[in-house]
Amino acid sequence: MQQEYGIHMKGGVITERNPDFSTVRIRAPAGVLTIEQLRGIADIAKKYGTGVVHCTTRQTIEIPHVNPKTLKRVAQRLEKNGTPIGSEKDEIVNITSCPGTERCKFANIDTISLAKKIDEKLFGKTMPVKMRIGLSGCPNACVSPMLNEIGVIGRIRPIRTEGLCTGCGMCVFYCKEKAIRVRNGISELDEEKCVQCGMCVKSCSFNLLKEAHTHYLITVGGRRGRHPKIGRELLTVKTGEDVLIVIDKIIDWVYRRAWSGRLLSEQLDELNFEKLREDILKQVPEASAAAWPVKK
Ligand code: SF4
Ligand code: SF4
Ligand code: SF4
Repeated sequence: MQQEYGIHMKGGVITERNPDFSTVRIRAPAGVLTIEQLRGIADIAKKYGTGVVHCTTRQTIEIPHVNPKTLKRVAQRLEKNGTPIGSEKDEIVNITSCPGTERCKFANIDTISLAKKIDEKLFGKTMPVKMRIGLSGCPNACVSPMLNEIGVIGRIRPIRTEGLCTGCGMCVFYCKEKAIRVRNGISELDEEKCVQCGMCVKSCSFNLLKEAHTHYLITVGGRRGRHPKIGRELLTVKTGEDVLIVIDKIIDWVYRRAWSGRLLSEQLDELNFEKLREDILKQVPEASAAAWPVKK
């Protein structure tokens, strides 16, 4: 059987330490797979690998120890299974996501649907640098979105409305940031300390703490690895549709301007990050942009 060089060059095919074998990485947006897809992957891993799979940090699955000569067949089987070969090189790689409002009681946004939409639009696009995108439903940041080239975090900005506060302290109890205190029997918010998790809003039975604003914080230029870096806060938007628009613009900006061979985090200033923010704020409808001051 002829070796398939085209497939071998794909980002989702990784040459192993022993170059006679390849590991095949799968595309699994938000790390969600059906039971049928899992069974299919198991069958493929048994036939073409060693019957073992590896779960990766990017919420996907790899099939190790595949003979490169069988890659074409493996690719066809994976495609048919609805779990095609993934990406790994200077491309947009598997989109990661926490469960969001689909399952998590702390979530402020629907991360999984959004991750799937981002995947549909952008997965596998060749870029000058590797682009990882991660989404978390709240500032607990369970998938570490700020350590991705693009991160999205669902937040709620609380507001203390007028009304009779009982001073019960329930909101103080639920705020892990010590951003609320009860003074003279009345609750007070400290916006400097608040990380906008929204827990206090859920905790007040008297509805005095309200959701002034649910929004998506978008960060750029984070990375893991040997010198981890937290992404910079770019801006906030109100809707998932606006997240898609902003991510498109970030991708276009990186595609046109970034240099290959260096991580995005190392070139943010040279690429004029502040200008990117200005440009996007001009283009995204005013009502949806910069709803809350971001930390620069
Ligand atoms: S980041 Fe927040 S919403 Fe997502 S799983 Fe963690 S606690 Fe839940
Ligand atoms: S949103 Fe979260 S951090 Fe902010 S005051 Fe409420 S509980 Fe505290
Ligand atoms: S704002 Fe609500 S939860 Fe907080 S002290 Fe007042 S009544 Fe209690």
